Amino acid sequence: MSSSNRPIYLDYNATTPVDPLVLEAMLPWFTEQFGNAASRTHLYGWEAADAVTKARKQVAKLIGAGEKEIVFTSGATESNNLALKGAFEASTNGKHIITIATEHKAVLDTCQHLEALGAEVTYLMPTADGLVSLEQVQAAMRPDTLLVSVMYANNEIGVIQPIADIGRLCRERGILFHTDATQAVGKIVMQVVFDHVDLLSLSAHKLYGPKGVGALYVRRGVKLTAQQDGGRHERGNRSGTLNVPGIVGLGKACQLAYVNMEEEHQRLAYLRDRLEKKILETLPNTYLNGNPTHRLPQTTNISFGQVDGEELLMSFNRIAVSSGSACTSASVEPSFVLKALGVPDELAYASVRFSLGRFTTEEDVEAAIQHVQKVVERLRAAVGHSM
Ligand code: PMP
Repeated sequence: MSSSNRPIYLDYNATTPVDPLVLEAMLPWFTEQFGNAASRTHLYGWEAADAVTKARKQVAKLIGAGEKEIVFTSGATESNNLALKGAFEASTNGKHIITIATEHKAVLDTCQHLEALGAEVTYLMPTADGLVSLEQVQAAMRPDTLLVSVMYANNEIGVIQPIADIGRLCRERGILFHTDATQAVGKIVMQVVFDHVDLLSLSAHKLYGPKGVGALYVRRGVKLTAQQDGGRHERGNRSGTLNVPGIVGLGKACQLAYVNMEEEHQRLAYLRDRLEKKILETLPNTYLNGNPTHRLPQTTNISFGQVDGEELLMSFNRIAVSSGSACTSASVEPSFVLKALGVPDELAYASVRFSLGRFTTEEDVEAAIQHVQKVVERLRAAVGHSM
């Protein structure tokens, strides 16, 4: 990743490159083995169906599910839509949903859509470290609560929510529990049974698989209303001809994650800690966002005081990172996640998410540290804030 003049890629939470082994596994399914997995009458279809079954097992194994509990989708956005809308439409006695204010838009906007259809949604505010507590979830529960949706790990700050505890509480109350685990799958060990999860969303392109393919884990016995009508693929949960190469890629990506997770976790946590420590220690007025312990190994989100956010991002020309602000149609807005944590606007504007991954090297991290130090010192000196 660092061999060319292109910026050092430190934005793995946005997307990951396809692992060469994943690509190799996918290629035949575009060409010689192009069959439709729903064709039951010839070899082409049987081969494709077998490949999909193998991938289903690989995905299931990574999260501790049964293979029949995996529904392939076009990605986590669709998985979240199917989970929330499907559960709401299938519910006969509940219209209340609990979620948190720092969810991905694929959950928040889906909740908004459901509110227009009569759902009542409670948006829990996390504490300043980005976590919600079991007590908050419990206090929000009502007799008509049908679903709790809490993300496993946050995409911007990486904090990991107390999923197993929330899951146990939901199970005791007979409330469905969905988790958007898009950022967590393949990065940390998880078992849907241990976490008492009913529905779990994941996406291939966050774990070195291709874009446009993902899955929803649907616990056996959980009923969803399908959001697409058609050929009743995926046991009626999601109609549409299966994306066989994509699904094979997702399966292979899950298998690689399963095998490499422990080693990768340690390596990335070491590199992330080094990056984070150096920045926080050598540059005054820099602040870590989110809980420092309960978080993904490869993410750090840092606010830089005494610099203009826009200028900061524009000056980071040697690294590809993500900013603490997002462009809406009319203006640049500070990240709603950081705002929910109580980060003041000027710091939120000047916040940067660094997310490392499989192809990040020690040299990349060293170069990134030096670049960040240089840029921040230069910008501060220019406005008379030199330390
Ligand atoms: N949820 C989370 C937490 C994410 O980070 C993302 C991707 N940014 C999504 C959902 C959407 O995933 P996809 O790109 O597969 O639709």
